[in-house]
Amino acid sequence: MAITIGVLTESQDRRIAMTPDNIKRSKIKDATWWVEQGAGEKAGYSDARFDGLAQLKSRNEILSNADVILSIFPISHDDHARVKPDALVISQYRPYVSDPMQNGLAKVPGKVISVDMIPRTTLAQAMDVLSSMASIAGYRAVILAALQLPRYFPMMITSAGSIKPAKVLVLGAGVAGLQAIATARKLGAVVEAFDVRAAAKEEVKSLGAKFVEVEGAVDDKGAGGYAVQQSEEFLARQRAKVQEHAANADVVICTAQVRGRKAPVLIEAETVGKMKPGSVVIDLAASTGGNCALTQNDQTIVHQGVTIIGNSSLENDMVQDASAMYGNNMLNLLGHITKDGALNLNMEDEIVKGCLIKTT
Ligand code: NAD
Repeated sequence: MAITIGVLTESQDRRIAMTPDNIKRSKIKDATWWVEQGAGEKAGYSDARFDGLAQLKSRNEILSNADVILSIFPISHDDHARVKPDALVISQYRPYVSDPMQNGLAKVPGKVISVDMIPRTTLAQAMDVLSSMASIAGYRAVILAALQLPRYFPMMITSAGSIKPAKVLVLGAGVAGLQAIATARKLGAVVEAFDVRAAAKEEVKSLGAKFVEVEGAVDDKGAGGYAVQQSEEFLARQRAKVQEHAANADVVICTAQVRGRKAPVLIEAETVGKMKPGSVVIDLAASTGGNCALTQNDQTIVHQGVTIIGNSSLENDMVQDASAMYGNNMLNLLGHITKDGALNLNMEDEIVKGCLIKTT
């Protein structure tokens, strides 16, 4: 039986989980699309852009009658209480931070997929919203730094003299860090990077950056590709090494994270004090405490001439591509969990097992 897919307005975000172009490309057989009135406005997709692609509905109609409900941030428990018992809600519940089932989700009707739990495997890559959003944030962090820096990024040889290329230090070479490295290299900067996973070394080098090694990191292959918590002794040695490199850097892009934990502090206040005035720190780990001890989430501060920008949602600054990529991830996921236009949640499937956090 064909399904109805509803797309909700985000109250705390400018993105929309499905753009008009996404819907145009959908291959889900006979699906009916419902979009909450005004849901695309903040991303530049007026209601008129959905003409002929989706029906505009009220939030209540979508919650009460859609078979699949898409939102980027989790909906409230009151919203959840209105969904059909056999409906599927797809959002990001971050169960690795706190268990939503223990926080009341167990009591509401419907199934729930938390897309931030999709396994980091090759097959699931096309559905991986954490990767697509991290990639945007990594790119945007470098653009923001280049705008903020009172110096050039590339080397310049001009009649007014030669200018040395900017030095960019990237902490954490996961998805965001690698994209930051690639972007900074394209702008002509000289780039160095730190990570604790052995696999990151070759990836960093392949992008033309220098990998700075700190001996003795714990690299747990069983952690699904994620980094694990390092010892205090290791982190102290790492901070000392970061200090040496940060003192010479013009820009530091912070992306080091350990899933479900506070971000490691890799730049102490003393290190900021040793940086060149005019230098810029962009801390993408701000929402989990930040890699810089002075970072304040969602704020820009200046400390001894160094600008420190704490922002973990830079994807919001590229709201159209962020929405389009999120929507593509959703289409790929929906393609995986539907068959002949009907929902087909195979509990033996690794991807479904990984992200279906509520089954009834
Ligand atoms: P993340 O956001 O959890 O962390 C960012 C980076 O910080 C990671 O590379 C991590 O190793 C690093 N880090 C943690 N502690 C650090 C420290 N003390 N010093 C320096 N760096 C530190 O990571 P992510 O970007 O979500 O990626 C996590 C992993 O998943 C990576 O191995 C990535 O390659 C992998 N991945 C795989 C797929 C796939 O195959 N589908 C998709 C996305 C990511």
